[in-house]
Amino acid sequence: MTETTTLRAFAPSANVAFLKESATIAVSARARALKAQGRKVIDLGAGEPDFDTPEFIRRAGQKAIDSGATKYTATEGILPLREAIAAQTNARWSGDDKIVAQEVVVSNGSKQSLFNACFALFGEGDEVLIPTPSWTSYYEMVALSKAKPVSVIGDPANGLKATAAFLDAASTPRTKGIMLNSPCNPTGAVYSTDELREILALAEERDWWVLSDEIYRRISFDGPAASVLDLSTRRDRLVVIDGVAKAYAMTGWRIGWTIAPRAVSAAMGAFQSHTTSNAAAVSQHAALEAIVNVDAAEKAITHMVAQFKARRDAVVKAARVAPGLNFVYPEGAFYLYANVATERGGDGTAFAAALLEKHDVAIVPGAAFFTPDWVRLSYAAPSEHVITGVERLVELYQSYGG
Ligand code: GLU
Repeated sequence: MTETTTLRAFAPSANVAFLKESATIAVSARARALKAQGRKVIDLGAGEPDFDTPEFIRRAGQKAIDSGATKYTATEGILPLREAIAAQTNARWSGDDKIVAQEVVVSNGSKQSLFNACFALFGEGDEVLIPTPSWTSYYEMVALSKAKPVSVIGDPANGLKATAAFLDAASTPRTKGIMLNSPCNPTGAVYSTDELREILALAEERDWWVLSDEIYRRISFDGPAASVLDLSTRRDRLVVIDGVAKAYAMTGWRIGWTIAPRAVSAAMGAFQSHTTSNAAAVSQHAALEAIVNVDAAEKAITHMVAQFKARRDAVVKAARVAPGLNFVYPEGAFYLYANVATERGGDGTAFAAALLEKHDVAIVPGAAFFTPDWVRLSYAAPSEHVITGVERLVELYQSYGG
């Protein structure tokens, strides 16, 4: 007699039942799967620099392995790294209360830093304003913290950026904080100093927490992008999130950090001590070299940003071939955000699916960023792929009568 075992269904807990897999991650996974089947897919999905980590940083990582950096470190990160981050950041901060190592917590990428900050600051009954479109994971991180993410759709006439007035209109007495990100993922828009100042002034007046994700700050093409630390007069409600992934081409090393008031940093450190402990020791040493070897780092960053800028120019030129195609002029990061909705082709989700399945180009549907008519194309990929990708996007858009 044979016994058949029926698998019992898994019912996810309420903690995660609402979660969908990150669309930015899912698109690249799908592109990889199609490539494994032999399809020549051009992956312009995830935002990941195609450059190798600069050699001087790789060497530091290798040296760290050989010199025994293979054990646990302090949960918040090795002291020299936290001190180096504090020193680097103090160059932007003019207040008397200089940033100290105790206000820096190093985590497994700025993604974990963002989550830890949300989890430490927000909870049941709180509302958090998210300029929209924004990076897909902000909404889920706020929801995982049991707070309510409130989308604030940006101004279509101004790079889809949210203004202080828009944020004010969307706020309620339950508003506890806002998420800022300039240069912005997914649009590439950069907030001017005046725009940021107005938002910071409103936040200060309302006693909101400002979480400023500055991971793309160094990748700005038409002048420097401001940090909130350049513009704020106080930082007792400020959390700056940064990391080495994008500017130093170190995505896989997973090193990000927060700069936050001591009590917040202590809470995030305690939380991290129960979840992941320290970020990888080897990666911390490599990140330390990236930060302290300023000359080599500046040379590498200048080179990579020049390449991104050349691609930005090429992408914009190729996109302008379709006069009806509405896109945000990208001033930073490495994304083109375009409204591809047409009557014949449908919304951004249908468009992205058609572009991948029929034309072998992977991009991210704008639904992931709460703007379903749009799509995001990452130009952190070899130039020839980027150009072919935009050309196919434009052709598909025009084939739908756009
Ligand atoms: N942040 C990048 C993106 O938006 C990398 C993938 C992810 O972590 O979302 O594509």
